[in-house]
Amino acid sequence: MNFHIPTAMQLTATMTLVMGLALAFAMTGYPRTLQHPIRLWVRGLLLLPFSFVLFALREQIPDWLSIVLGNTILVVAFAHIVQALRAFNRRSDTSIALVALVGVTIVGEILLTYVWPTLSGRIGLLSVVISTMLAIGVHAIYRKPEAATRPEHMVATMLLIGVAILIVRAIVTPDTHIAVLTMSTPMQGVVFTYASLMPVIATSGFLLMCGERLNKDLARLATLDPLTGIFNRRTMAELAQKAVAASKRHGRALSLLVLDIDNFKRINDQFGHESGDLALCRVVELVRTELRESDLFARIGGEEFAVILPDADETSATAMAERVRLRLCNAGFAISGWPIELQVSIGVGTLGPKISDLETLFRHTDRAMYAAKRAGRNRVVSVSQLARQVPAPAGDDDAP
Ligand code: GH3
Ligand code: MG
Ligand code: MG
Repeated sequence: MNFHIPTAMQLTATMTLVMGLALAFAMTGYPRTLQHPIRLWVRGLLLLPFSFVLFALREQIPDWLSIVLGNTILVVAFAHIVQALRAFNRRSDTSIALVALVGVTIVGEILLTYVWPTLSGRIGLLSVVISTMLAIGVHAIYRKPEAATRPEHMVATMLLIGVAILIVRAIVTPDTHIAVLTMSTPMQGVVFTYASLMPVIATSGFLLMCGERLNKDLARLATLDPLTGIFNRRTMAELAQKAVAASKRHGRALSLLVLDIDNFKRINDQFGHESGDLALCRVVELVRTELRESDLFARIGGEEFAVILPDADETSATAMAERVRLRLCNAGFAISGWPIELQVSIGVGTLGPKISDLETLFRHTDRAMYAAKRAGRNRVVSVSQLARQVPAPAGDDDAP
């Protein structure tokens, strides 16, 4: 195969430059969390063409420019691309291994150009350095608890192909006989074909990764309350429905707490809406400390919350509600140095023979919560307690 290396270099340089510029232009539309990894990727793409131009000018410009600087820029460009993958998976620290590999390249290229000049030695060094970097990139993609997405597999595969090609180039068939970098051999053909395709395919994969992350974040936002970060009413309705069905299927208990902050309007009136928001977040933080992993916690209204407690009968749910109430009471919350009382009224309801669906459970538990308000606030009232206090009128089938 007669592969014209300088043409391949020129094409790759132009394509990478255009892609880098397009991505830099489009980047501003992405959310902030994705801008950092995209910026690193763009820097990598924009650096690559410089190294290709310096390589293509071999013999026409001094060696320190074409060899030492060209290879250093190439390695720094790859380091940025790998760092972008790390940042995408929330590793924002600079990888020491990447910095060390850049250092090894600079020292190695100087030694192998001026002290022991050898082209095959330099090719071997570069192959080892870049394949190690690509392997760090693959590691960055898979090093997270969630399963990798398809675009992530795509980018990882592209990097692994690079690792394989470079290992073959460095160890199995070293091009010891090539005199100049731009000489065309089958191995050079494979390497430069990969070098031309890699930026395009990996960048497409990286953009798909960003799109997938964006979709995931949007889906997550639609299920959560934006102020407190807990489930919103709609999500609670869906998840609670499933929890009720599961508890009926397995014959297990399930309880519901409805919490309403007492005299919350006063906080808003005295200290402003923003302080009210802070108080809401503090309440959520405190309630959370009492919850188990399996409990579902949601904001179902302005200052009203619901907790579904799977596997909890009325006694344990009431005890848990009492713990929540006391924790809020004793927490001590201050706005601008002024102590603020955080108190809640809590209704407790449990699935049973008469309360067999979610809607009825909510209705009765809500009534219990309002009974707690009427009884003086800052207290817990259960549905059965309420039934004992207010005997059901004859014929009221709805009474528990
Ligand atoms: P009660 O003890 O009877 O529950 O009295 P309350 O003042 O807590 O209840 P009320 O229903 O009179 O007032 C609720 C207040 O909650 C009114 C509303 O402005 C406020 N509120 C609702 N949503 C938000 C919010 O997202 N942020 C803030 N800061 N306030 C909110
Ligand atoms: Mg209230
Ligand atoms: Mg309310």
